[in-house]
Parts: sequence; C-alpha cells; structure tokens
Amino acid sequence: MPDAVSAAAPSPAAEAMRPLTIRMTDRDNVAIVANDGGLAAGTVLPGGLRLVDRVPQGHKLALVDISAEAPVLRYGIAIGHALKDIAAGSWVHERLLRMPQARGLEGLPIATSRAADLPPLEGHTFEGYRNADGSVGTRNILAITQTVQCVAGVTDFAVQRIKAELLPRFPNVDDVVALEHGYGCGVAIDAPDAVVPIRTLRNISLNPNFGGEVMAVSLGCEKLQPERLLPPGSFAIVDERNVADVGKSADEALDVVCLQDDAHVGFMSMVESIMRQAEEHLERLNARRRETVPASELVVGVQCGGSDAFSGVTANPAVGFCTDLLVRAGASVMFSEVTEVRDGIDQLTARAATPEVAEAMIREMAWYDAYLQRGGADRSANTTPGNKKGGLSNIVEKAMGSIVKSGTAPISNVLAPGEKLKAKGLTYAATPASDFICGTLQLAAGMNLHVFTTGRGTPYGLAAVPVIKVATRSDLAKRWHDLMDLNAGTIADGSATIEEVGWGLFRLMLEVASGRRKTWAEHWKLHNALVLFNPAPVT
Ligand code: CA
Repeated sequence: MPDAVSAAAPSPAAEAMRPLTIRMTDRDNVAIVANDGGLAAGTVLPGGLRLVDRVPQGHKLALVDISAEAPVLRYGIAIGHALKDIAAGSWVHERLLRMPQARGLEGLPIATSRAADLPPLEGHTFEGYRNADGSVGTRNILAITQTVQCVAGVTDFAVQRIKAELLPRFPNVDDVVALEHGYGCGVAIDAPDAVVPIRTLRNISLNPNFGGEVMAVSLGCEKLQPERLLPPGSFAIVDERNVADVGKSADEALDVVCLQDDAHVGFMSMVESIMRQAEEHLERLNARRRETVPASELVVGVQCGGSDAFSGVTANPAVGFCTDLLVRAGASVMFSEVTEVRDGIDQLTARAATPEVAEAMIREMAWYDAYLQRGGADRSANTTPGNKKGGLSNIVEKAMGSIVKSGTAPISNVLAPGEKLKAKGLTYAATPASDFICGTLQLAAGMNLHVFTTGRGTPYGLAAVPVIKVATRSDLAKRWHDLMDLNAGTIADGSATIEEVGWGLFRLMLEVASGRRKTWAEHWKLHNALVLFNPAPVT
C-alpha cells in the first residue's frame, strides 16, 4: 500500500543512518518518518528535501510548502487544514491542523463499488471443536455466566476450587472462565437501549468456544433475572445454514445456581452447588475432540488499540490483506470501532454488497452520532495522548489507518452492538473503539479468534478466545518480544511486504486456532475484563 518506502535494501551499517519516509498515495503532501528515534533537523532526504525541524518517529513532515487553509493530505484525503503556512521539511503536528467536520450521512454512495470478485482460496484447514449448532470452537472452555455483579466473588471462589480440584480430571478442557461483568442490578432494565448489554451477555454465553454448555449463577433479587437473560429457547440454537433446530430443546430448564435459594445454608453450600453443576458440564466438554475443519469456520474479530501512525502503514494493511484471504477462504471476519470508521463512511457504504447493507451501516453511524451527542461529545473524543505522541494528529487520520483492516472485499453484513453473527464473509459489527468493549461485543457476535494490532503497545488479552497481537513497529516488537505475536514493522523496515506479513498472519491464525500454538497473552494468562456496553441509564 505505501507507494514510497524511500530507499533500497541497505547494508546493516547504513541502516541506522538511512532516512526512511513513507508516503501513502501520490496525492499526499505529507509523509511519515519511519526511522527509530525520528530524524534530526537538517537531515537531507533521498529526494533532496532538507528537514527544517526534528521530526519524531511516526510523525509527518511537509513534502512541499503548504499554505494556510490548504488541505493536509494523507491517504489521499484531507486529514486537516493548515492553520498557518507550513514550509516544506517542517514537522506537521496536530497543533498546526484544523480537523474537518464529519461527513454528513446524506447522499452517500450506496453499494457503488463493484470490487472484483476475489478468487476462492481452498485447501486450508484447522483443528477445531465442532458444536451441535454447526459453529466451531478454537478452545474448549467451561464458561460460568452471571446475571449480576453481586455473585462475582462467590463465583470466583468456586472457579478457583474447580480449577484446583476438578479440572485436573478433565484434561481435554482448556479452562474454566467466570463471565464477570458490572451489569444486572441498579440499571434501567426496561430502557430501550438495555437490550444492548442484555443480548451481549446472552450471546457471549453462546460463544462457540464454550461448547453450548450454558450454566449461570444468579443472586435472586437482581433486575436481570435468569429467564430474562436466557429465556427458554434462547439457547435452543438454530443453525441458520441448515435452518434446523439442532441445539438444546427449548423447554430444557436453564441450569442456574441461585445464591438466595432457601436450600443454601452457609457459603460452602453455594460453592459446592456451583461445583456440582460445573462437574456435569466438564464431563461433557471433556468428551469433545478436535477435528479437521475448513478455514471457513474461523470467525475472526479484528481491532486495533494503542495505535500510532504506523498502524495504518504496516499492521493494519497486513491485517487487511489477511482479511481478504479469510473472506476468500469462506470465513467470517468482523471489523468494528464506529468512531474509527466514521470519517470513511463513504468508502464503506460504497463497498456494501447491497443497498440494505449500506443503509444498515448508515443507521449504526447515526445511532452512534446521537449517542455521542447525548453525552456532549463527538468522534474527536476518540484519539488518546498516546495516539498523538505516535504521530496521529486526529481521528480523521486515525480512521483512514484503521479502516484498512477491513481489506477490499464487499461488506456483506452489519451487526448492531451485541448481536450475533448472521452470515459468513465480511461483517461490519458496530462497537465502540474501546478495546475491552469492542472485544466483548465481538465475543458476543461469536468470534473464535481475535487479531489485535498495536503501535504504542498493550498487553491486551481475553480469557475466552486467543488474541493474536500484531506490532506495527519493529522497535515495539523487539522490546515486547514476549507479548507481541507478530511483527508487521518489517514492512516499514523494507524487509517484508504487506502480502508476506498478511500470509504469515493467516498461517499463524490456523496454528493458534488449532491449539498447536498459544498466543503470548495465553502463555502468560493475561486477561482483560469483559466490559459490557451499556448505553442505557443507571439508576
Ligand atoms: Ca480498539
């Protein structure tokens, strides 16, 4: 994608000195500095341009004189307008830019971009756990659903005992995970938007990595009653491809341990009750075996966090290439993060497979605009101090680099927050950009593998699915060598292509999905909290 990594392969000695800049398109009047540590004032670039200022790594330099009010172009679009004259060779930072208004949601191109059909990619498989509903897990985990935060301590106590006393007897089960969250009581449960956290929690309980073994711990008096969280039939899973009811029967009782039940006398009665129920589920999970399944059974959620200016140059384009490979293999891929695609909405509605998909995308953007407005904010609240330190001036620039994770395939489906995936191919799953909330919602959609790109660095992980972390810069990959699973910084170094890193990621996914390889987050057991998106009021 970058058209100008501005040098040929160097000798190692020349490497440190060689000024490297990256311009994304011919239209751009800025480029970013790729060298570790940035470039000093006075450095002469290969084309003869002399730097006026010191420019930090990942930050932009003006390739030509940019006059006041003129657009500053990166990715071929205006990421801002110059607040004053900027001389060629100057550092172009966020204080020199005025951010453009968000594009309106009227008059967008609707399903106009007829991308060339990508050729099918056949013959790739992984070893997964086939579920009764047809979905496939990449891990074999017992999840204990909770209706309310009140039961978290008791459930955690029980889970520690289950891991110590029961799990060693069930070697085919990877883990026991308590689905702890902050919801369930003290919330306006009948508010229209309460549907978002409730369906999120319900759908997470049905994630393919949990094998359809749903059990729950309830307090008893909470607003989110078990029958509301998992109403009869909600886990009578329908395989939409076979249009057949192949899951549990609708009248099968939900397996709930209720702490306020009169039968419980003392704390240990509650703990032992949870353990007894868990044992039944563990026995069934333990009988499962991995089998060879086509790569089309992957359900991959992609997101980024701790982004820098390299995210959109190295890691995200490599993920985008891999997204195309997955779509070609018939798999499901979700991209998300509303505020990080809002400024590219015209690209996305154009790429929609049908007018209905484009309209659904616009509906989700409009819902989120209104949500932010209610809170007195807008999309510009997205960028972090770390993003800016990493060279991203504003959300427009960040969005252009974020969208490339979605590759080039037509967008065939749109999900509202917390909804379950309906179809294979490329799906836009509307979520906040917040790492844990996005991950939680992608889990609810049915993700069985997560890909996460980072430039500043984050030790992010989830207990329920493997998270493959991709570094945008070699410097980060070297320093965090036992946290990053793949280095896309080789693209900026000029030692690998986007295609090579994308294929590397694809092969790594099949290894991780098969359980042959653990991610670093799994190795160290680094797990972030589930964080439910609750746009409804709290009482
Ligand atoms: Ca994120």
